[in-house]
Amino acid sequence: MNRLLLALALGLIALTTHAESFDLVIANGRVMDPESGLDAIVNVGIRSGRIEALSTRALEGLHEIDASGLVVAPGFINLHWHGTDPQSDYYQAMDGITATFELEVGVADVDRWYDERAGRSPIHYGVAVGHAPVRMRVMHDPGDLLPSGDAARKSATPEEQQAIAAGVENGLRRGAVGVGFALAYTPAASQWEILQMFRLAAAYGAAGYVHIRGASSAGSADREQGLLEAIAMAAVSGAGVHIAHINSSGQSSAPRMLDIIRDAQAHGIDVTTECYPYTAGATRIESFLFDSWMDKPEQEYRKLQWSATGERLTRESFLKYRKQGGLVLIHANTEENVRAAVIDPLTMFASDGFDIRPGTGHPRSASTNSRVLGRYVREQNALSLMQALRKMTLMPAQRLESRAPQMRNKGRLRPGADADIVVFDPGRIIDRATYEDPARYAEGMEYVIVSGDFVVRNGRVIESATPGRPIRAPFK
Ligand SMILES: [Zn+2]
Repeated sequence: MNRLLLALALGLIALTTHAESFDLVIANGRVMDPESGLDAIVNVGIRSGRIEALSTRALEGLHEIDASGLVVAPGFINLHWHGTDPQSDYYQAMDGITATFELEVGVADVDRWYDERAGRSPIHYGVAVGHAPVRMRVMHDPGDLLPSGDAARKSATPEEQQAIAAGVENGLRRGAVGVGFALAYTPAASQWEILQMFRLAAAYGAAGYVHIRGASSAGSADREQGLLEAIAMAAVSGAGVHIAHINSSGQSSAPRMLDIIRDAQAHGIDVTTECYPYTAGATRIESFLFDSWMDKPEQEYRKLQWSATGERLTRESFLKYRKQGGLVLIHANTEENVRAAVIDPLTMFASDGFDIRPGTGHPRSASTNSRVLGRYVREQNALSLMQALRKMTLMPAQRLESRAPQMRNKGRLRPGADADIVVFDPGRIIDRATYEDPARYAEGMEYVIVSGDFVVRNGRVIESATPGRPIRAPFK
């Protein structure tokens, strides 16, 4: 009854009162907005790229979608993405993602990153300046995305530390929406060096996005240590901190780590986290994470799957591929640990995805949200649809708001919000990508709308659609 009353009240809420037609009307759908709690059959009127009306009365539109039987929700926001190829963004769109961010690793050259995407992206995009990429540039590390040389293994001289700080600050001046910390990949970076980067983040109202040390799918003893280090950085500097993939960084300690984050939040520290719903991780085999893998018992190598061929590794093939370099999947986690992270109200969903090529990659790149909605919400009833949507929309928008105020109009479905909207079939949505065949679109997304334009229509991606816009902090 309350929901119905709310919907009727919303019938009176509109930015404009004239009866002229909207650009687009989404009619008869079950509209769900995690911020207001709205969950009702309401018509949505869109004009000039934003939502202008929610009404129980019929709305007139130049175009109209009949969303009977479908859920209408804010577009999903992905805080963790590493792709460089706009084609891969169409897989994200089919997974309901309307804005995607490279935050955990980030980049050294923020201007270039945005320039490369201008006019080419189906979904909105933003980037952090990255401590690791800047360190790689300063220390002439040859790694691909992640350090594989001096940036991983050498401490920085005072001059190098100054150059790293200057590079990070320059990125913030150029509108980076956060500061990335791939700390597990830069073990030689001192805590003092990291703290200086957090102080810069704080000075610019940005959060740090951290792949914590001392923990990973590749294995390590003291998993809480790296989390406590990251929280200490936030506490001392005053910057917020976001912990990447608590599922894979936490493994069996994920529940304990979630409790640590809950406690830190209760004591006033701005710390948040995310997860992806898969038991396998993925990373570069040549990275520092595998330095400790040179002499493992033979059966340990069976946890590794070479993405290009699908084969499970032996010590011999591990050593061969490590010289060659490339993507390896790590089958180390349990469904119980993943599920604990998925259902915890603290976590957001973020894919940690990267470019999708036929036959190689990780299914999380194409299917993180659809897997949650199909398996954990529909099949297992492990969390409610509204809870899941909150973790895909409102929570990631809120994480970015202090640095990128335009996020206040994303992750919400209300008049005045940006028309980034998903329309999906809750009875059918499901992941289709697998470890062996990661280049498969998710199913069940009927429409994905970005700034009022279709990227997915009638369940099909429109590969010429490029309405994505940069999400960038003000320049300083
Ligand atoms: Zn990571």
